[in-house]
Amino acid sequence: MKSHAKVVVIGGGVVGCSVLFHLARHGWTDVVLLERDELTSGSTWHAAGGMHTINGDPNVAKLQKYTISLYKEIEELSGQATGVHLTGGVLLAATEARLDWLRGMVSKGRYLGIDLEVISAKEAAELMPLIDPGQFVGAVRNKEDGHLDPSGVTHAYAKAARKLGAEVERFTKVEDIVRRPDGLWRVITNKGDIIAEHVVNAGGLWAREVGRMVGLELPVLAMEHMYLITEDMPEVADWNAKTGTEIIHAVDFDGELYLRQERGGMLMGTYEKANKVWSEFSTPWDFGHELLEPDIDRIAPSLEVGFRHFPAFQKTGIKQIINGPFTFAPDGNPLVGPVRGLPGFWVACGVMAGFSQGGGVGLALSNWMIEGDPGADIWAMDVARYGDWATMAYTNAKVRENYSRRFSIRFPNEELPAGRQLKTTPVYDTLSAKGAQWGVSYGLEVPLWYAPEGVKDEFSWRRSTDFDHVGTEVAAVRDGVGLSEISNFAKYKVTGEGAVAWLDRMLACKLPRRGRMTLTPMLKEDGRLIGDFTLANIDDSEWFIAGSGIAEQYHMRWFEAHLPKDSSVQMEAVGQKLTGLAIAGPKAREVLAKVTRADISNAAFPFMAVARMDIGMAPCLVGRVSYTGDLGYEIWVAPEYQRAAYQALAKAGEEFGIGLFGSRALNALRLEKNYGSWAREYRPIYGPLEAGLDRFVAYGKDADFVGKEAALAERREGGKLRLRAFVVDATDADVIGDEAIWHDGVVRGWVTSGGYAHNSKKSVAMGYVPKEIADKPDGFEIEILGKRHAARIQAAPLFDANFERMRA
Ligand SMILES: Cc1cc2nc3c(=O)[nH]c(=O)nc-3n(C[C@H](O)[C@H](O)[C@H](O)COP(=O)(O)OP(=O)(O)OC[C@H]3O[C@@H](n4cnc5c(N)ncnc54)[C@H](O)[C@@H]3O)c2cc1C
Repeated sequence: MKSHAKVVVIGGGVVGCSVLFHLARHGWTDVVLLERDELTSGSTWHAAGGMHTINGDPNVAKLQKYTISLYKEIEELSGQATGVHLTGGVLLAATEARLDWLRGMVSKGRYLGIDLEVISAKEAAELMPLIDPGQFVGAVRNKEDGHLDPSGVTHAYAKAARKLGAEVERFTKVEDIVRRPDGLWRVITNKGDIIAEHVVNAGGLWAREVGRMVGLELPVLAMEHMYLITEDMPEVADWNAKTGTEIIHAVDFDGELYLRQERGGMLMGTYEKANKVWSEFSTPWDFGHELLEPDIDRIAPSLEVGFRHFPAFQKTGIKQIINGPFTFAPDGNPLVGPVRGLPGFWVACGVMAGFSQGGGVGLALSNWMIEGDPGADIWAMDVARYGDWATMAYTNAKVRENYSRRFSIRFPNEELPAGRQLKTTPVYDTLSAKGAQWGVSYGLEVPLWYAPEGVKDEFSWRRSTDFDHVGTEVAAVRDGVGLSEISNFAKYKVTGEGAVAWLDRMLACKLPRRGRMTLTPMLKEDGRLIGDFTLANIDDSEWFIAGSGIAEQYHMRWFEAHLPKDSSVQMEAVGQKLTGLAIAGPKAREVLAKVTRADISNAAFPFMAVARMDIGMAPCLVGRVSYTGDLGYEIWVAPEYQRAAYQALAKAGEEFGIGLFGSRALNALRLEKNYGSWAREYRPIYGPLEAGLDRFVAYGKDADFVGKEAALAERREGGKLRLRAFVVDATDADVIGDEAIWHDGVVRGWVTSGGYAHNSKKSVAMGYVPKEIADKPDGFEIEILGKRHAARIQAAPLFDANFERMRA
């Protein structure tokens, strides 16, 4: 075994082997994979080997499509058979709501290049003969489904990697990992040490244990999972003989089942409701090639549905039940990327669909390690989407929930109950008493809307029970004044003698002068966005930044990686040490004036001013800015004062009819201003010109800000895409996000977000289209629930296009 390597990959499951292969293919060949046993000794060996392209997140779906396309290449390169059977499949819907969900998937598939087609239940039964079509209302056909040999694929990755110069050391257990003072990693194994620049934790079932070696508690948990294999079935033999083809895959969402042919019989697996965690706190090192005891009672309810939906199973014996563990992150997507605070330590774990996702994970991680960027939008898989609030108990609750809902519909207005009331702010009970309906963002409870007594969300793809009430909240803001809680923003404090120069380099904007704020994009070296913030210069020595709450860890990882080594800059993520309130609407100034002695006249405290001032008795930081696009103020206050500030504002607002508004109303308000938001409109695959944020980029400033050259090139060459707002002729359902945008009968773009703008009484969608058609006056359609609706570009905001209200 070598004593030094550029990269040590820990774990010889499908994911570790894919990472190794991709590193080698990308040119890093001084790389070694360490496996404590034989390859495939974790979850990999007993997987059912199913693979599919669809995923709720379009970017993950793209990587799944890549994974499936890769198998031919690694088979040829390695000479190792992967056993791929590209049978195609049907996704079955037993309810109209499920069919609506599938229609949304088809719409996404159009711009992702995934060939999906809505078919009738009868047509599905013609493709997959075991189906009772009377049990279903429709289906979607997917030509890119199939299965493979899990061991063959893993060995093919490993052999291909070896051919490219990588090394694999089996029976080599990593026992500890120590960071040396020179920044290199000492990887301690039962066969000696390896010193490495980078370490990748692809430990699968033992990812937690490997994480703990460096003081990291990863939010992953293994669940038991069962599938059965039947005796040979005459129906299968008949079909094979008659058509010369295998029986295609089927996913029966309402039965929570997946099926495929296995030799002369069928394989049926289920994500059962009464699920079971495996090895809750730690994974035994002596676990390897054994299976778990099957528990047919647990899966009986799903099997009953399966026997009804696929009647041939009723007459067939079960040959074998496989029960094995595999790991999940709280939301079921992988955990990939560099770990904040541990330079050179990377994770590729929590991969619950290794044969659909392993290739994409390997590609993204190798790009990231070698190029400094994953090369794709992998936010949905980024390990930084979790913070330290994702504790072991939280993970346990969410993983169980996610497993039991693996095939369940999640409606756009549906909030899931597990892991809730974890982080709350001091006004939580007060707002609950006012009818607040809560959602969750980065572990924090956030008010979505305020329901009158006896009203609650009815889950639906269409406008629902909240519609009129959100309209009332919107009207409160536009007609008078509204009050909302905004603690879910990420907040950062930057100080130190080097702060000005550093911020000037990190952020693309012109730095604001003392007492002023600005909006600012933050760019990567490739000139694309990595953040968008409000930057406030409080007093030339202290800077305050507000940004997307869900990206706190993501942004801190970036900021910290760029901090000067000489301690001249201090940066802190303030988190909930600072909570937030906002007031907005034409009467907002009159409300604020009643509770502060500060001069907040337009002359003294104009748009984008910032100052410390007391609100009632509470010391606050107040910025004159509002995401509603109205006259408004964002108020930052220590949690011990939040209630006092809230009470003062609520009382002062009484005479103006102040109304509470939640994030759904905020969405309706920002849409009629064409304002985008991080993780929807603004993502790391778009340039500032494409995203319409170029007006905040100080291209001409002296500072050599990160991404400047590339941003100048984008401006010169024009980029490829444009973000546009559309008014959609929608009737009872608005866009959610990820729908296809058509132009002249061809799919040309995708929706990033949208909804109903109550004040303008228009259905609005935001999304990207190629720049060539971005100013076309007509020809656009947006697909909602399988129907195309005429849409028009709304270049000027529907509300206050001349910014008179905001600046009044
Ligand atoms: C019953 C069942 C059915 C499934 N069906 C499918 C399916 O149809 N399709 C699909 O895509 N997925 C399926 N899966 C999931 C799939 O198996 C996993 O997604 C995949 O195996 C994860 O691979 P991995 O490499 O991340 O982890 P693992 O396979 O667990 O590999 C981790 C490896 O790391 C090694 N290791 C850990 N710690 C150390 C250490 N300290 N030193 C050295 N080596 C170490 C382990 O020995 C192990 O070999 C199924 C899983 C189960 C249990």
